Amino acid sequence: MKGMRHPDERAADEQEVRADADLRPELLNEFVGQERLKEHLRITIEAARARGETLDHVLFYGPPGLGKTTLAHILARELGVGIRLTSGPALQRAGDLAALLTSLAPGDVLFIDEIHRLDRNVAETLYPAMEDHALDIVLGKGPTANTLRIDLPAFTLVGATTRQGALPAPFRDRFGLIERLEYYTEQELHTIVVRSARILGARLDPEGAAEVARRSRGTARVANRLLRRLRDFAEVRADAVVTEEVARQACDLLQIDPTGLDADDLRILHLMLDHYGGGPVGLSTLAAASSESEDTIADVIEPYLLQRGLLQRTPRGRMLTHSGFTYLGVPVPPGWSGAGEGRQTESGEVGLLRPHEAHA
Ligand code: ADP
Repeated sequence: MKGMRHPDERAADEQEVRADADLRPELLNEFVGQERLKEHLRITIEAARARGETLDHVLFYGPPGLGKTTLAHILARELGVGIRLTSGPALQRAGDLAALLTSLAPGDVLFIDEIHRLDRNVAETLYPAMEDHALDIVLGKGPTANTLRIDLPAFTLVGATTRQGALPAPFRDRFGLIERLEYYTEQELHTIVVRSARILGARLDPEGAAEVARRSRGTARVANRLLRRLRDFAEVRADAVVTEEVARQACDLLQIDPTGLDADDLRILHLMLDHYGGGPVGLSTLAAASSESEDTIADVIEPYLLQRGLLQRTPRGRMLTHSGFTYLGVPVPPGWSGAGEGRQTESGEVGLLRPHEAHA
């Protein structure tokens, strides 16, 4: 494990999980940002309540640390029902799922994190449960096999995934609501940090809060974790107040740059520039060269670099954009096709020139 990595979910441990839980908003009104999504949820909750029905199944997708689990808790709380939590990798067998489903009380929320990693057989057991509130259990094997149908209480499945596209279409189609979580703005992160500081009893001045917000990679969990680290730093090295100066010094130590990119983000960008002339380079090559897993690059690092416009995804691989080169302090190679500026080839593909080709 690397010592000074960016304080995001990659280094989450049990203590972090507990601390996260303390900072979790409990009601929709306390949940900062994601306004369109919240409005949609409010309407859906109200309609379900008015009809006395169970809430439709919900799928939240987006990068880690943006609030998917928090929203599942909030839904249960707002609906006044219980919640059971599990994850795709934890549900190894259809029997595990059956045990969980039969233990639900009517109206409960079942939250499945990393739902794209659910075993196919388990997912298929879930289909009739989602649709007809029934569980089909196959008894025996071969020609004498029998199916036993067990009725289940009505429940709401809340799924969370970093990759909506990895869910089979028949699975996706069974969710009534599919909602994407966006990265937070600096202003929203500022609000989150101030609220968390209040709960933690951390002393933070407005400039310090702004600096934390700027360096939090658009991610609520990162903001909370950074706040905790800066509070430690302020208590040991300064007079316990997180000021702009304290935040700057601590972030330098944590290798978080002034715009919030962490050491791993920068490593990927530099790798692309130094070894692949800015790309295009495939995900597996990047993973092998950087010793990060493909999942970490695809789910955590890349989405933020895409959002920042430093990287673009093309049919032939990942490429730096004009802004990517500029960010790294390198001139954009002549003829480089940056985001949205790519020349179309006859096949309609964006023209991709490697810098050495451009120079030729
Ligand atoms: P995800 O499930 O998307 O990985 P979580 O729901 O676990 O993310 O959120 C991580 C942490 O960030 C939680 O502890 C929660 O307190 C905080 N958080 C997330 N979204 C918000 C928000 N909109 N407002 C305030 N805090 C938030």
